[in-house]
Amino acid sequence: MELFSYYVNGVREIDTYMADFKAKCPENPSSILALVFTSYDDAATIGDFTRHLSSAMPGMVIAGCTTGAEIRAGGYIESSTVVVFLVFEHSMVKTEILDCGLFSNDKIAKTLMTTAVLTPDIKGVQLLMTLKSSSSMKPFFDKFSQIFHNIEIFGGSADSSFSIWPRAGQEFTYVFTDEMISEDAVLAIYFSGADLHLHTDSYLGWIPLGREHIVTEVEDDVMVKTIDNEPAAALYNKYIGVNKSEMTFESLLAFPYMLERHGRHIARSPLRVYPDLSLKFAADICVGETVRLAYGDPSAMLRGAKKGCEAMEKFAPQAILLFSCISRLMYLHDEVNRELSLYQAIAPTAGLYTYGEIQRFPEHKNIELLNSVLLSVGFREGEPVKKSEEQSKVYNASTGFSDERLSLVRGLAHFVSVTSKELEEATEKLKRLANEDRLTEITNRGAIEEEFAKQLNALVDGQKIAVIILDIDDFKKVNDTFGHEVGDDVLKYVAKTLKASVRTQSTNRQRDYFGRWGGEEFLVILPHQNAAAGVLVAERIRKNLASTKILPDGRNITASLGVAVGRAGDKLETVYQKCDGALYYAKEHGKNQVRLAEGSMDSPHEMPSPA
Ligand code: GH3
Ligand code: MG
Ligand code: MG
Repeated sequence: MELFSYYVNGVREIDTYMADFKAKCPENPSSILALVFTSYDDAATIGDFTRHLSSAMPGMVIAGCTTGAEIRAGGYIESSTVVVFLVFEHSMVKTEILDCGLFSNDKIAKTLMTTAVLTPDIKGVQLLMTLKSSSSMKPFFDKFSQIFHNIEIFGGSADSSFSIWPRAGQEFTYVFTDEMISEDAVLAIYFSGADLHLHTDSYLGWIPLGREHIVTEVEDDVMVKTIDNEPAAALYNKYIGVNKSEMTFESLLAFPYMLERHGRHIARSPLRVYPDLSLKFAADICVGETVRLAYGDPSAMLRGAKKGCEAMEKFAPQAILLFSCISRLMYLHDEVNRELSLYQAIAPTAGLYTYGEIQRFPEHKNIELLNSVLLSVGFREGEPVKKSEEQSKVYNASTGFSDERLSLVRGLAHFVSVTSKELEEATEKLKRLANEDRLTEITNRGAIEEEFAKQLNALVDGQKIAVIILDIDDFKKVNDTFGHEVGDDVLKYVAKTLKASVRTQSTNRQRDYFGRWGGEEFLVILPHQNAAAGVLVAERIRKNLASTKILPDGRNITASLGVAVGRAGDKLETVYQKCDGALYYAKEHGKNQVRLAEGSMDSPHEMPSPA
C-alpha cells in the first residue's frame, strides 16, 4: 500500500493535484480511500471538495472531517485542507455514517458492530465524530468496546480551525462522505484484508504533579462542578495562581487534569470556566475519580514521542495516520513538527489536529476518548520488510530540541514535586508527634480525648461504647523505691500491655482506642461494646499487667480499673466521672481489681456483645 497527500488551498487546486496523484498511483489497486481533513467550516465548500474528488476518480471511497489544523509529510499547517490517498493493493475500505439525532448511542454502536463483524477479515475501524456527538459518547464507547478484540479502533473528534479556536466548542464541526455531511454524526471507516495489519499507539507526555483530588460533582459527563467539594476551577487558582479572568483554554491547557483509568494516565483538558467556577472538559470525567494536575515539559514530551516511535518503527508501516490533540499544537507551537517528523522518518504521514482522540487500548481493549495525545496508526499490507538495527531512522534521529532552554520547566517541576513530598512527610510527622505521648509513644491526652468525644457524638439511639480508666497501684512507691527511670519503664510497659490487650487492627471495621490520660492513668475506648464487654477487657488488661515480673526486685505491678458505658446523648464529662468513680471504688476496696460504674448495664444478665 502507499500513502499520498497534498495540501490543497481551494477547490480549484484539486484538479492539479488529482493529475499528479493519478500519475503516481499504482495500477489496479484493490481500493483507494481519500481522506479529507479541512479547516473549511461551511458545508457548501466541503460538498464542492468531495464532488470534485469523486468526479475526478469515481469509485474512490471519500471520507473526512473538519480540523483544528492539518498534518502531512511530518509537518503541520493551519487553515488549509489536506487530501490523503491511501492506496491498497489487496485490502478493502468502506464507510458508514450515522446521524446522532436519529439514532441512540446504543443503536449506533450496535449498527457499527454488525457491519464490522459481517466484514470478512475486518482489521480496524476508524471513527470520526463531531463535537456535538463526542461529549456524550461514553456509553457508545463502552458498548463498542465489546467488539472482537483483534480489531483496532482509532480516530478522533472533528475540530474547527485553530485560528478561530478561542470560540471553539461553540461552532460547527462536520464529518462527511461524498454522500452526506453532518454536524452531529459518527463516521466509521472499515479497513479489511487478509494481509492488512494495523498498529496504534498514543503518546501523552504531560506529567502528573502535586496531590490527588477527588471529583465530587459532575453534570452531563463533562461538566465538573466540584472537586474535593470545592468549585472545580478553584484548584487552578490555588495551585497555578491564575485568577478567574485568566482562566482561558489557552492558559489552562498547559495544566490539564490527569485521570488514571486501567493503569493509564489520561488527560482531560478544561475548555471553559463558568461563573460558578465549574469546568467544562473535552471528554468525560466520573464522580469519584481521582485527578491530579499535570504539566507539560516539552523536552520530556519529545523524548517520550521518540520512544513511542520505536515501537511503530518495529511494526514497519507503509503509511501512518496521525491524530493529534489541538492542545499539543497550542502548547508546543512549531515544535510539534519535531514530533511529527519523527513519524515521517518511518513512513509517509498525514493527519489532523483533533478535539479528542479515540483509541482502543491494546492492554484491555477499552475504547477511550483521550485528550492531549499524539495518536499514530500504522498501516501495512503483507509481512514487514526486515530492517537491521543500523537502519533505524528514529533511533538515530535527533529530537533537535535544545534542552538548555527547556530545562527550567523540568527543574521547577522537579523542585515542586520534591518539596511537596518533603512537606507531606513533615506534615505526617508533625501530625504523629502532635497526637503521640513522648514517653510511651501511644496516643496522648489531647488525641484520646478527641477520639472519646468523637465516638460519643457518633452514637445513635441504642448504641453504646465501653470506657475503661486504668490507674497503676502505688506507683509513687515504684518511683520512690527504684527511681524515676524505672517508673518510666513501668509506664512504657503498661502502654505495651494495653496495645497487646485490645483490638488495634480493624476487624469488621471495628477497632479499640487507648491512650495516656495523664501521669499513670490510661483510658481505653471500646466502640459498640457494652458494660459486660468492658469488664471482660478490663479484667484481661489487669491480668496481663500482673503477669510479668517487671520490677527490679522481681515483683509485678498491679492496677485498678474503672469501667463505664457511654450512650447516645451522654456528655464526655459525665461518662468520665462515672468511670473515675468506679476506679475510686476499686482503689477503696483493695486495688488490683475492676469495678463497673452503677447504671452501666441495661439488664442484670447482660452478656458481652459479640465483637
Ligand atoms: P494509687 O495506688 O492510689 O494510685 O497510688 P499512686 O502512688 O499510684 O498514686 P499517686 O497519684 O499518689 O502517685 C502518682 C505518681 O505517679 C506520682 C508521680 O510522680 C508519678 N508520675 C506521674 N507521671 C510520671 C512519669 O511520667 N514518670 C514517672 N516516673 N512517674 C510519674
Ligand atoms: Mg493516679
Ligand atoms: Mg496510681
